[in-house]
Amino acid sequence: MKALVWFRSDLRVQDNPALRHAFKEADSVEAVYFYSAEQLKNHNEADVKIDFLIQHLFSLEKTLTSLNVPLTIIQSNGFEEDSILLKKYCIDRSVKKVFWNNQFGEDENLRDKQVLEALEFNKILVKTFHDQVIYKPGSLKTGQGNPYAVFTPFKRKWIENFEMDFLDINFQYVKKNPQDLTSNITTFDFNYSRTHRVNMDLWSIGESAALQRLHKFLDEKIINYSKNRNDPILEGTSRISPYLALGIISSKKCILEALKINNFEFTSGNVGVTKWIDEIIWREFYKNIMFSFPKVSRGQPFQDYSKKIKWRFKEEEFQAWKEGKTGFPIVDAAMRQLHYEGWMHNRLRMVVAMFFTKNMLHDWRLGEAYFMKNLIDGDFASNNGGWQWSSSTGTDAAPYFRIFNPITQSTNFDKEGLFIKKYIPELKDLDKSVIHNPSKEHRKYCNYPEPILDLKESRLRAIEAFKIAKS
Ligand SMILES: Cc1cc2nc3c(=O)[nH]c(=O)nc-3n(C[C@H](O)[C@H](O)[C@H](O)COP(=O)(O)OP(=O)(O)OC[C@H]3O[C@@H](n4cnc5c(N)ncnc54)[C@H](O)[C@@H]3O)c2cc1C
Repeated sequence: MKALVWFRSDLRVQDNPALRHAFKEADSVEAVYFYSAEQLKNHNEADVKIDFLIQHLFSLEKTLTSLNVPLTIIQSNGFEEDSILLKKYCIDRSVKKVFWNNQFGEDENLRDKQVLEALEFNKILVKTFHDQVIYKPGSLKTGQGNPYAVFTPFKRKWIENFEMDFLDINFQYVKKNPQDLTSNITTFDFNYSRTHRVNMDLWSIGESAALQRLHKFLDEKIINYSKNRNDPILEGTSRISPYLALGIISSKKCILEALKINNFEFTSGNVGVTKWIDEIIWREFYKNIMFSFPKVSRGQPFQDYSKKIKWRFKEEEFQAWKEGKTGFPIVDAAMRQLHYEGWMHNRLRMVVAMFFTKNMLHDWRLGEAYFMKNLIDGDFASNNGGWQWSSSTGTDAAPYFRIFNPITQSTNFDKEGLFIKKYIPELKDLDKSVIHNPSKEHRKYCNYPEPILDLKESRLRAIEAFKIAKS
């Protein structure tokens, strides 16, 4: 029997249930990936993420070829076209069964429904799997049978129901026989021209590079994760997010390897390990929110009252924020990190998002879209969740009156000002006592802008806007 594996957000061979099952069931296996510049644009994917994706397709193709699985990249105009294209491929190549790992965004679900109908109509079998999160999305329910909307009880249930068998992911692939088809990746026109400024040396390519990154973090950093995760200059986090976003590594693999060094304990043992696993559960939580509350995928806030908030918009402020020229050093350093690395430290994502939605009182959707357009790890569910948390419009969000003061955040988490100096070289000569909030003279001397707003006034303005919306 000939099987086809449709790769989507799972650009890996290890712990890939669709590929694994195709190998178990079929004599010969082929693979496809649909590439659509239009669709990527439609979903606001970052240029840097597309660059990373294309490089990974080349890497995936090499690994698949070594197993005698040819990878065909198919040009598509978007999700609407995929059912026609896949059906044609299956008929042309006499494919009897198609395997894929589910994505579960709204558009993806609709596309899959159409594909499923088209294939079933043509008597082509389909087998689908869940690889992005541990539990089938939406399957963890509260005592009342509702989807979880608060993280802590979700996490409790997630841990309670966990079975170590979930982590039984090892599979030995045995090469299939050679086929009458070769991969087309070297001749495929991705029609991609780089516009980003990210140093791609930061993001090594390939599944084995992702594994190496994971093991380096587990060997060297996870023990101190709890202590170091909030100080951006310490590089105390894994930076595994871009690989998770494209499925170059699975969350199961991350959890398995972390548990190995913690006696397979979720709630006791090393606090660095348990905290890190908590963060992976946050990722799962937001994916469940996206699945169970489709309104968040339609640009709506989770908290209905917040639709009434009167957001401001000032082009100059938006521009200053984007360019890292707000006059608040920690905000600017963070935004410049985003441009140089395509990535931003988690603490700083919260700081800049709160500054944007509270102090600037700009609509969270603008910030969310800007992040998506610039992040190498852009992930709709986590990005939406992070923005809605920061703007107090989301599930389990920060209370609206809890507004981070960027200067206090800076003195707390970048004590020596080293992160600021790294990304804002204009300020490199300033002492740590002044770098978090330079005086007029210092700003002039360093050619660094004045603050775009008054923190106290803008804080009160935000609280008032939220109060009115709530009343
Ligand atoms: C405004 C805002 C926007 C965000 N946008 C994204 C995004 O587009 N893509 C994305 O992957 N994450 C996003 N996050 C979550 C978080 O900032 C990143 O996952 C994290 O910084 C990635 O770095 P790391 O891999 O070193 O994380 P680590 O600290 O090593 O954590 C390990 C993994 O856990 C997950 N994780 C960690 N923190 C969170 C969190 N708060 N929410 C959900 N998952 C988390 C990630 O998959 C991460 O790779 C956003 C957070 C905020 C506040």
